[in-house]
Amino acid sequence: MLDFRLSEQQLELQQKARQFALEQVLPIAAYYDEKDEVPIDVLRAAYEAGISSTDIPEKYGGKGYGILEGVIVTEEIAAACPGIATSVFDNSLGMEPLILCDNEPLKEKYLSRMAREFQLMSFATSEPGMGSDVSGIRCTATPDGEDYILNGTKYWVTNGGIADYYSIFATVDPKSQHEGICAFLVERDWEGVSVGRAIPKMGQRSSNTAGIHFDNVRVPKENVLAEPGQGFYLAMKTFSRTRPVIGAFSVGAARSAMEYAIEYVKKRRAFGTKIANFQSLQFKIAEMYQKVETSRLLTLKAAWEADSGMDPTIDASVAKFYASEAALEVANEALQIFGGFGYTKMFPVEKLLRDIRLFRIYEGTSEIQRMIVSGHALNTYQPVMPAMEDLPLHLEKDPEGVNQADDPASTAWRCRICGYVHYGQEPPEQCPFCFFPAASFKNTAAQKA
Ligand SMILES: Cc1cc2nc3c(=O)[nH]c(=O)nc-3n(C[C@H](O)[C@H](O)[C@H](O)COP(=O)(O)OP(=O)(O)OC[C@H]3O[C@@H](n4cnc5c(N)ncnc54)[C@H](O)[C@@H]3O)c2cc1C
Repeated sequence: MLDFRLSEQQLELQQKARQFALEQVLPIAAYYDEKDEVPIDVLRAAYEAGISSTDIPEKYGGKGYGILEGVIVTEEIAAACPGIATSVFDNSLGMEPLILCDNEPLKEKYLSRMAREFQLMSFATSEPGMGSDVSGIRCTATPDGEDYILNGTKYWVTNGGIADYYSIFATVDPKSQHEGICAFLVERDWEGVSVGRAIPKMGQRSSNTAGIHFDNVRVPKENVLAEPGQGFYLAMKTFSRTRPVIGAFSVGAARSAMEYAIEYVKKRRAFGTKIANFQSLQFKIAEMYQKVETSRLLTLKAAWEADSGMDPTIDASVAKFYASEAALEVANEALQIFGGFGYTKMFPVEKLLRDIRLFRIYEGTSEIQRMIVSGHALNTYQPVMPAMEDLPLHLEKDPEGVNQADDPASTAWRCRICGYVHYGQEPPEQCPFCFFPAASFKNTAAQKA
């Protein structure tokens, strides 16, 4: 049986996250957006409330929650402020390569630490010169005795300016593309690590984003997350587990834009009536609702796949790119419904629109998600329907009257080019529609009804 209900524990977690979002995030969201600063105290409070870093396995003293729980919590926090949600969730993104790697002593050391105390860990594949093309990493990791020496710059690192640790993806040889990529856990305080200024952004301004520079940073081999050749796959595996959560950011933020719009149409009047009475606005609300609901279903399915041990790659991409594009449409229509007020900073919709715009960019742009999904659809998806030239025919219904129902030799020929079906024991010399020769006809005998 398919059951769409959340469990008792998941409902409790949702309630806890919702209360946290309403009491601790919503009241400060506009202030920190204006200030262009991350509210570290709120990140700490989220940790203390048990709604961040929840995916640390129980073995290391963590809660051992799944991606599904991450999705449930993230929808609530993003509904209050997508930027703060990004910074809260970033710990899960930063830690995922550590959780997925097989370096047991490293997990024991850092995951246990992060389960015990409030510490932040960021994730860095991107660089100033590349983002989408992860195989094009230029930051180098040069083996040196028992260590690696890191040189280069990572860019766009969420929480980069405030994190204690980083999952850093580098390469032993920039020319070897995927095969050279490796990953390390690097501590911010190590010699040679420099943190850049907070990057000023259009939206999600309450989330810190910074560059990290490595100047001959010595990384002990104990801190290897992925050996050369394995780093690219670790990064991709991480994304397929964290992309459902980007879907959840979109669901939460779009949900709020929709709720604000619903409230507004019921109060605002024009032409002597509430604007909720105009069918064109009712239809906008219906489409918003449909998009939020569809996005949530896709997101939950992808998260469920990840937690069930299935490969969630395709559905995570579908969820991420559908939900992030749907959220942008929802917020844009919400702003339209607010009219001039929507365009002001006095109402929350313009901030939501700015914040939501990022979802189509980070953790793989919409274009990259389209490449992943089209790659699957065109290459690995298993169709149910036969190829068009193999479509079955009910030969007894031969409209040309050539075939006899009881004649075992009766057959038909389908032109592979234009689809014309010729009845008879031989194909025609030439197709009467597209003029291709007999060789372009396929015998449909195998599909005889
Ligand atoms: C606020 C913010 C936070 C971020 N946080 C992190 C983080 O914590 N860690 C991290 O590692 N990165 C992070 N990123 C980086 C983010 O993941 C990248 O910006 C993103 O992957 C796109 O890379 P790019 O900016 O280099 O664009 P590019 O890769 O240069 O792409 C430019 C454009 O070309 C398109 N494009 C590229 N290749 C193709 C192709 N093959 N076919 C079609 N179109 C293509 C892209 O979709 C895009 O529209 C963050 C970015 C931002 C803005």
